[in-house]
Amino acid sequence: MKKSITVIGGGIIGLSCAVKLAEAGADVVVIEKEQVGYGCSYGNAGWMTPCFSMPLPMPGMLLKSMKWMLNPSGPLYIKPVPSVLLTQWLTRFLLSMTEKKSQIAIEALVALSMKSLNDYKILAQEYPEIEMQQKGLLMVSATNEGVKAAVQELNLVEKYNVPGKILNAEQIKELEPALKGNLLGGVYFTNEAHAEPLKVVQALTKKALKLGVKILEHTEFQKANITTDGSNKKIKSILTSKGEILAEAFVLATGSWSQAIAAELNLNVPILGGKGYALIVDRLKSQPKIPIMILDRKIAITPRQDSLRIAGTLELVNQDFSITERRVKAIFDGAKEFLDIPESIKIHETWRGLRPCTPDGVPLIGWAKDYSNLMMACGHQMLGLQSGLGTGQLVSDLIVLGQSDLNRQVYDPARF
Ligand SMILES: Cc1cc2nc3c(=O)[nH]c(=O)nc-3n(C[C@H](O)[C@H](O)[C@H](O)COP(=O)(O)OP(=O)(O)OC[C@H]3O[C@@H](n4cnc5c(N)ncnc54)[C@H](O)[C@@H]3O)c2cc1C
Repeated sequence: MKKSITVIGGGIIGLSCAVKLAEAGADVVVIEKEQVGYGCSYGNAGWMTPCFSMPLPMPGMLLKSMKWMLNPSGPLYIKPVPSVLLTQWLTRFLLSMTEKKSQIAIEALVALSMKSLNDYKILAQEYPEIEMQQKGLLMVSATNEGVKAAVQELNLVEKYNVPGKILNAEQIKELEPALKGNLLGGVYFTNEAHAEPLKVVQALTKKALKLGVKILEHTEFQKANITTDGSNKKIKSILTSKGEILAEAFVLATGSWSQAIAAELNLNVPILGGKGYALIVDRLKSQPKIPIMILDRKIAITPRQDSLRIAGTLELVNQDFSITERRVKAIFDGAKEFLDIPESIKIHETWRGLRPCTPDGVPLIGWAKDYSNLMMACGHQMLGLQSGLGTGQLVSDLIVLGQSDLNRQVYDPARF
């Protein structure tokens, strides 16, 4: 008999899990409290870039991040508010900035991202509407410190087969003539790809439906019906806004909402929202051809067919979806320093999303502590799209086969 699985959350992670589980022969239901794909997976930069497999807390980041944190327009901002969750999160964040921890995390995240990149290429053959392009990624800087950081990133991922070329200012401008300003150099990661993020979730939705997955939108998880046998807990069914759902196993893929849901289940899941913005503006006369990361401002530029996406900033919040104009302006002004953006340009959309951030910068993927049938798949910080299908594969392998080549100790949800 087919194994029945209910996935809670219809973002890139939930849909990736659903597709991979259905491909492995499971009987899958996805519940989504709103509309599939309209959480953080809606408007991200669309990058499928194994070169960005760094956890948020990296060694040597302490001074830099403290400087940023105190600047309300800086790329990383934490509003100082009294909160137990924030204090615990920050303590763990600071303790995670060690060489050893970051090396372990990078190896694991590159593996997940490489698997995902490969599987997205297969998805794009079936669903070309995801607009996936493998044009590489250009990481540039106008400071010596920034160029050094780009080369360091290359050194960290090169050993896991993520290729890149170190470029000087002239070579950068030759490769991407749309860039202006006093750039000093950077790195061109040649194998990276990008796509339209919402269309990726929608393609996975179509694929899931084709595989027989039942997708229930506007259906919110409310409570779990738990049985206890000694220290072992089992979820018998869940209560949703549309009624009770029984399943043999459940997958929690609720992004930045996971902390509150897990707390209901007596689990410690220290996920905060890393709020970021994305602006969709008119296509430029001098439109970039390649996605660009401007390191000095932490701004991600993604060319689209008829427009340009400019994304950036990380503001640590707990379920605060408000838009801070000052931070939006900082992103836009930062992009203007490096691209020819006329004053008359139209901003068509200002979007914000909460990246699900764990303090050690690594997602939780695996069986939840003390539960025999609750699989965690949350906390994908800034790389949920790039590691989506890999996460789905790992979750499916663990549930259906009991093991996976992609599994790493570092993902274990019981570490918190
Ligand atoms: C500005 C910005 C740029 C980014 N750029 C990139 C990028 O280029 N590449 C990349 O890989 N990542 C990027 N990210 C990060 C990426 O967007 C996230 O890591 C990813 O979207 C997380 O996916 P998710 O499925 O875990 O969460 P979500 O997409 O947020 O999905 C969670 C879903 O759970 C649902 N849900 C919540 N509570 C319940 C409930 N009680 N019952 C039922 N459903 C519920 C929500 O409605 C939501 O749809 C970026 C993020 C931002 C903000």
